[in-house]
Amino acid sequence: MGSSPSIRITKQLRQRQSRILELLSAEYPDAGCELDFTTVLELTVATILSAQCTDKRVNMVTPSLFRKYRSASDWAVVPQDVLEKEIRSTGFFRNKARNIRALAARLDKDFGGQVPDDLDTLVKLPGIGRKTANLILAVGYGRPGIVVDTHFKRVSTRLGFTNHSNPDRIEFDLKTLVPEEEWSQWSHCMVFHGRRCCSARKPDCGRCPVATLCPSCVAKS
Ligand code: SF4
Repeated sequence: MGSSPSIRITKQLRQRQSRILELLSAEYPDAGCELDFTTVLELTVATILSAQCTDKRVNMVTPSLFRKYRSASDWAVVPQDVLEKEIRSTGFFRNKARNIRALAARLDKDFGGQVPDDLDTLVKLPGIGRKTANLILAVGYGRPGIVVDTHFKRVSTRLGFTNHSNPDRIEFDLKTLVPEEEWSQWSHCMVFHGRRCCSARKPDCGRCPVATLCPSCVAKS
């Protein structure tokens, strides 16, 4: 990651970030991961399935999978063609099935079937990028995590908190700006706000709770 943030971190910027988080947390009191899971392994599989797919669709597919495959070794031995059929509706099913099986085999072989709880180890595992690793930490283990998905990227950029387009650099910018104990809440609020108000094509600035604090607001006269 870069050695310095793409924006100048000033006291005013920190105050604006803090106020925005306050307002968005009030607007979305239930902000959090929308994938259904009961274990960190289930969360990890659901997150892999959610790439280029809606959480709603993933939540339709996972209940029967989670009933059948309960441990890493269960996932590791399911034949590729069987898993492909079962997850087909989530898209990119060949790659996803390959990644899930490879990841499960590695967890089974080297980690006693458990999902590791540190970023450096997670990102070395098959199918796990920084976004997924941070989500596992934040949601699965209750640790601080900055989860840069498409909503996070768009909303944080519009709010003027990063000038980067590379997700790793955006993660670095926001990790520098946002206090560590707020990383996860910030991530959830960015996703909720991106899905419900600050959409890609038509941001609803007229009813946005942080419009007066946003440099990209188009509702201003
Ligand atoms: S004011 Fe508009 S662009 Fe800014 S965060 Fe709100 S919806 Fe997005």
